[in-house]
Amino acid sequence: MAFAADPAASMAAGTGASRSLPVTRQVAAALLAVAIFWADTFTDFGSAFATLYVLVLLLACNRAARAHIFGWSAVCALFTVASFAFVHGMTAHADATLRMVISLGANAVTTALLLHRQAVDDRATRGERRHEDTLNSLAVAIWEHDFRPVAAAIAAVRAAGVEDLPAFLDENPDFIVSTRSLVRITDVNETALDLMGVPSKQAFFEHLSDFLPESDASFRECILAIDERRDMFQAETQVRAANGEPIDIFVAFSLSPDRGLDRVPGSIFDIRQRKRLEMTVERTRSELDKVQRSAALGAMSAMIAHEINQPLTAVQGFAFSAQRWIERDVPDLDEARQALAGLHDAVLNVHEVMQRVRNLVGNSQTENAPVNLHTLIRNTVSFASRDVEAQGARISFSHCAPEVMILGDRVLLKHLLLNLVANALQAMETPSREEKLIEIDLSLAGNQASIIVRDTGPGLPASTREKLFEPFFTTKPVGMGLGLSICRSIVELHDGQITLANHPEGGTRVSLTLPARV
Ligand code: ADP
Repeated sequence: MAFAADPAASMAAGTGASRSLPVTRQVAAALLAVAIFWADTFTDFGSAFATLYVLVLLLACNRAARAHIFGWSAVCALFTVASFAFVHGMTAHADATLRMVISLGANAVTTALLLHRQAVDDRATRGERRHEDTLNSLAVAIWEHDFRPVAAAIAAVRAAGVEDLPAFLDENPDFIVSTRSLVRITDVNETALDLMGVPSKQAFFEHLSDFLPESDASFRECILAIDERRDMFQAETQVRAANGEPIDIFVAFSLSPDRGLDRVPGSIFDIRQRKRLEMTVERTRSELDKVQRSAALGAMSAMIAHEINQPLTAVQGFAFSAQRWIERDVPDLDEARQALAGLHDAVLNVHEVMQRVRNLVGNSQTENAPVNLHTLIRNTVSFASRDVEAQGARISFSHCAPEVMILGDRVLLKHLLLNLVANALQAMETPSREEKLIEIDLSLAGNQASIIVRDTGPGLPASTREKLFEPFFTTKPVGMGLGLSICRSIVELHDGQITLANHPEGGTRVSLTLPARV
């Protein structure tokens, strides 16, 4: 890493009053002024020698402050008048007086020009500083690039006869790498320093290639954008922060041809959060898909088994009957034919049943309506109490909030709680000296509803904690390993979170948080 911010930019930050001028120049200007005074006073060239004082002004007042310009201007005017008075006294001819007036006029015009230039410089400095302040106040990271070497490299390959630049870039990846290393970073703002973990502008990366990873594909597109003189270039890529951490970014450059390529600003957005969200959504979707497919399969198998039983019995009946009519000593083919027709209808019936089951399974939809969590938990507790009591356990519900409403699907949420109660009951199946107790607690913190389901079972073995939510993970001999996975899908569908941990006093503690409707 090395210095990258443009030194010209930092130079321009000084004001007119604080500029320090080289001493040698001031000394040279003073000597020149004395020389002109001497020549004007003690030689008889007879021309408007004093006009040469403009050289003194130009030498002494380059980029000087107003007071400095006025000072030197007054000194030159004084020398001009003094020399005139010394040479001509009170008897000056009209042409000598005219020469003095011309010299003073030249002095005045030069002074005015120098003052004007000083004002323009100051305006530019103030503009530059405003630009820098604006850049630093932006929440978006910005770094400026000098893309001129890219344009030069493109021009060189074009001059060498390359017409199809995309094909050339595909065949010459080294060209992309070497061109990228020529792009200098000329300035950065504070947000960019924070993003990349760099303490100061001076320590920022010098070249684009210092923080773009080898695998970057965006620079190829950037070369094409510059070649095609596009106004904008946007891409998603990754950069490496100072500590080597990869950062996913979205970058946008304005390549407007009127602005030139020497200081092209790029706006950089940190999209790690979005990427993480996308990955979570993708993972959840694929798990939900798996779970839904398995759940749908399970439901379909159960329904098929149930619904098809009766039509299959009919199929079997007609088949037996047809066989019996054919196996008689004198086969009754008419009866056999009728039995086979019945068999045909029964088979059609099987198809219809299958179709109905498929429709039923395919049409599940979720609801998004206000749900009162008190009522929901109470209903769940009373629904589960028969199973709980049958196992010699107790279930209790406590709360410290009057009424907690959320938006969601009542049926799914009830299913979620029943799953957790079933897991708690199964965990407490093994005989123990502990009382078998399931405690459900509801509370509200800000706009988050919190439900805790605690049991007095053996708790979670450390080795299983990572895998609890994976579909088909189970430690039970006849478990499906789908309960917690479905629970997490339901909670995430409601923008909530679910965690499992061991309770400090024993047993498992499941914590759910769901956004409340306040
Ligand atoms: P299944 O109940 O079919 O095993 P789950 O996804 O519901 O599937 O649970 C996965 C695993 O998580 C269980 O096999 C068990 O090891 C563990 N588990 C879940 N709930 C509890 C609990 N309350 N106490 C102890 N272990 C639990």
